[in-house]
Amino acid sequence: PDRELSAAVLAGMRNIPDFPEPGVTFKDFTPLLLDRPLRDRIVADTVRRRQGQVDVVAGIEARGFILGAMIAHELGVGFVPVRKAGKLPAAVHTQSYTLEYGEATLEIHQDAVDHRERVLVVDDVLATGGTLAATCELVQRCGASVAGIELVLEIGALGGRARLTDYDLHSLVTV
Ligand code: AMP
Repeated sequence: PDRELSAAVLAGMRNIPDFPEPGVTFKDFTPLLLDRPLRDRIVADTVRRRQGQVDVVAGIEARGFILGAMIAHELGVGFVPVRKAGKLPAAVHTQSYTLEYGEATLEIHQDAVDHRERVLVVDDVLATGGTLAATCELVQRCGASVAGIELVLEIGALGGRARLTDYDLHSLVTV
């Protein structure tokens, strides 16, 4: 592991108290996007680890789009958006999951990935793991396999990793 990179990422993340609701500390990764050298190192680190093992990158709306598209570009593979319900125009697979309060639904285009393709799933933050579990389910419903999961930051206390033990999950920082 690149300890220096992890330290730089941790320093670059911004904690926003009580967003989007009281009691939640939002881990804001937008400062990392502004820092061109650091952003490049984050992408290069993922590419170094995953090169040759990925046929397509799936990014989760909305912050996973930004990171995922940069990683797909550097890996030289396609990009697939996993979106909130009702946003994708063609035929979709749909997966609902429970949040702390209520339910959320994610969708993927049915023809976005081919059978037997290896898909790298990308998002910014892992909290309870519901979002990533649903995304991996969608990838598999397309007949593809999950090559791995790449995250910038993992909130360890929320136990998301325990729900994703079937997958090769990597996060740059765990808090
Ligand atoms: P979860 O399904 O609980 O793992 O939540 C993960 C999703 O919600 C990811 O798409 C994150 O971007 C977002 N998220 C959840 N909690 C936070 C947080 N404290 N800070 C930033 N993003 C979060």
